[in-house]
Amino acid sequence: MSTPRAHIAAMASYPLATLSTPPGVRMISLSQNESLRPPAPSVAQAISASLDALQLYPDPDWSSVKQSLSQLHGLPEAQLLCGAGSMELIACLAHCWLQRGSSVVGSQYGYAFLSTAAQFTDAELILAAEACYTVSVDQLLNTVRPDTTMVFIANPGNPTGTRISASEIHRLRDALPASVLLVIDEAYGEFADHLNESLFELPSHSNTVILRTLSKAYGLAGMRVGWGVFPCHIGAEVRKLLNPNNISVTSQAAASAALQDQHYLRETCTLTATIRQSAIARLRQLGVRIPDSYSNFFLADFGTAERASTLFEALRAQGVVARTMGGYGLPQCLRFTVANAADMTFACDILDHELTA
Ligand SMILES: *Cc1c(COP(=O)(O)O)cnc(C)c1O
Repeated sequence: MSTPRAHIAAMASYPLATLSTPPGVRMISLSQNESLRPPAPSVAQAISASLDALQLYPDPDWSSVKQSLSQLHGLPEAQLLCGAGSMELIACLAHCWLQRGSSVVGSQYGYAFLSTAAQFTDAELILAAEACYTVSVDQLLNTVRPDTTMVFIANPGNPTGTRISASEIHRLRDALPASVLLVIDEAYGEFADHLNESLFELPSHSNTVILRTLSKAYGLAGMRVGWGVFPCHIGAEVRKLLNPNNISVTSQAAASAALQDQHYLRETCTLTATIRQSAIARLRQLGVRIPDSYSNFFLADFGTAERASTLFEALRAQGVVARTMGGYGLPQCLRFTVANAADMTFACDILDHELTA
């Protein structure tokens, strides 16, 4: 019999959403933080045009994607790497910086994939407490140990939707030992870009990596394109672990077209914020506790696990799939992705009915 490495055998699979609704009921998935609308029309055109070159391997250097990013955010191409989703970049960073005997510090309600990455590298994940569902820099700093090699936060956070300011992140960076790698996952960064608190300059003068993705605001979850800004010496290590030719011809074409249509992106972000704020206002009036969200989802605290689970089932009976939060230690909460106005109203109507019954 062949035996896998013990720490791999001990791992559970990554907890993806369970998408199931009663037979014959149209499903409205509010569970994976996908965009409320398809990508820009120019993306479909770019995809069609790319079909002529599918016999060829994709550009291993993602040149057109990097060019678009560099123009858009004023970033040096030498600092950019692309992954098959930002998850690939997180996995490679973990392989480079974590091992048995080292620890990674995350935040209490942080992104679940960090726990997976700690498990497959056999490192220890230590969580820093949050205050009001928000990352606490002081708690992160108190949690760092001598064996800590990486600190990882998502900003805005998932599943909370909250964020901390650029000045708080600078305070964190300045107080961390210079050798500790700080990874800031900005998967929802586009929804907060109007605040003008860019951190993209951090990687050029500190051990800091900023990650982004085309999966959320750009509406390309199905194409698997993530990217990051790296200090050059760190990017060089991560690059060794990336799957060569990791992003398909079609995905690269789609990504550069999406990046070039900033009007469409801003429109998606504005529309998302408008629908999100009206859903949050409505649910708060019903007595539901919801922290301020800077993303395309929000966390609703219904007080007890029992109530959250009753509401989850009531929604599911009508095809609306929210995300349960038991795995995050928040069984009293459900996470809702912001959908188009009609679907969001439908979901809120069900909650309204249940909560006022
Ligand atoms: C969705 C998400 C990602 C990204 O996923 P990819 O699709 O792999 O780019 C990364 N981090 C957080 C916090 C997310 O919610």
